[in-house]
Amino acid sequence: MSLKYQSIKGMKDVLPSESPKWIFFEKIIVDWMRKYGYEQIRTPILENTNLFIRSIGEATDIVEKEMYSFVDSLNKDALTLRPEGTVACLRACLENNLLYNSTQRLWYMGPMFRHEKPQKGRYRQFTQVGVEALGLEGPDIDAEMISMTKELWDQFGFKNIELQVNTLGTIVERSNYRSVLIKYLEDNIDVLDEDGRRRLYSNPLRVLDSKNESMQDVCNNAPKLIEFLGKDSLSHYQKWLNILEKLNISYVENTRLVRGLDYYNNSVFEWVSYDSGSPLTFCAGGRYNGLIEELGGEPKPGIGFAMGVERVLDMLDTKIIPKNSDLIYIIHLGEKATECGLLVSQKLRYAGFNVKQDFEHTSIKSQLKRADKQNARFCIIIGENEILLNKVKVKDMHSRNESIIDLDKLVDFLMFYFK
Ligand code: ATP
Ligand code: MG
Repeated sequence: MSLKYQSIKGMKDVLPSESPKWIFFEKIIVDWMRKYGYEQIRTPILENTNLFIRSIGEATDIVEKEMYSFVDSLNKDALTLRPEGTVACLRACLENNLLYNSTQRLWYMGPMFRHEKPQKGRYRQFTQVGVEALGLEGPDIDAEMISMTKELWDQFGFKNIELQVNTLGTIVERSNYRSVLIKYLEDNIDVLDEDGRRRLYSNPLRVLDSKNESMQDVCNNAPKLIEFLGKDSLSHYQKWLNILEKLNISYVENTRLVRGLDYYNNSVFEWVSYDSGSPLTFCAGGRYNGLIEELGGEPKPGIGFAMGVERVLDMLDTKIIPKNSDLIYIIHLGEKATECGLLVSQKLRYAGFNVKQDFEHTSIKSQLKRADKQNARFCIIIGENEILLNKVKVKDMHSRNESIIDLDKLVDFLMFYFK
């Protein structure tokens, strides 16, 4: 039988079996952000399409082919489901004057939308946790971003990961390099694939990012951007790397790392996992000093990163997630006992316990089975006899011992175990 309705291709449900992983992750993220002094910002999922085209760049994968853009049928506005978080975050800061005489350290978590070919770790709706530090020149904050992410991976116990770094210089330095690179690629046009030829003039740096085997020699032998950098850019890069070394953070320089969005300059980095054989980037970021001005603000530097939450969760060993074993399960037989159960549940919840009452009205045995399935710590069993005596039966689901407890002593009795 085919289902009448299905979710949209590339957009997944997070089912109850997976949600503990998400909740565990979100809690750690909230504490982690506070530890580093970042404040949360929440922006709408929809923005005006032009905001993304101008800032992300017309010749990028995202703007060329990945945006969910549409015209609002009611007022004809051109809108786009946000494909990333940085631009919307800056738009919100400018609109609300958060950058006036002030720096900001902000974070967000939420869904992003890109019309890509769905595969493992690549979805059309996916989640990013992102961080933006606005108004700071670096390279100190650039280094803190790296140590901050590394600390998170250490908390998660990630192995087989690598930090790749590169510098993209300033926009002027990059444009000098760009013309030399175009000339070089023109001389090697026979070797370029279709994507390479298409990007030759629109986004030549991205050509170097090609995964195509037959283009690897051309890419490796291409002129290097670093040779076109001035004193300031080189010193920014060198200082960044020096701090990383002082912090004992190992890195790999990848001169072909250019990032998918146009707005980056100077420091760029990616955290790559080798868990599944082929490398997969699960967190990426960089500096974007011209972006705030591009969006109409006073010139101010900025740097940020975003991690792909689905990719991070795939890497997470579920063994580190604490099992929820603080549930108290209320079991009863008969109408009066059900009412008494409601009263007991209410009392326990006011006292701070997590309580689930079985409303399926089956035998005590099958109610106990359900309690076990849900990993309950204690069952409160209520029968007509107990009600008359103002008592309940408490079953310790670990030891399987049962005790008869006065109703007004129940909270104290349970508190003892949950201290
Ligand atoms: P890729 O080269 O894999 O397409 P990207 O450069 O487009 O990545 P960014 O824009 O830097 O990705 O986004 C930051 C992170 O968000 C990525 O490193 C990745 O972990 C995650 N991410 C990006 N696109 C997707 C997607 N379609 N599905 C799931 N996660 C994604
Ligand atoms: Mg992409």
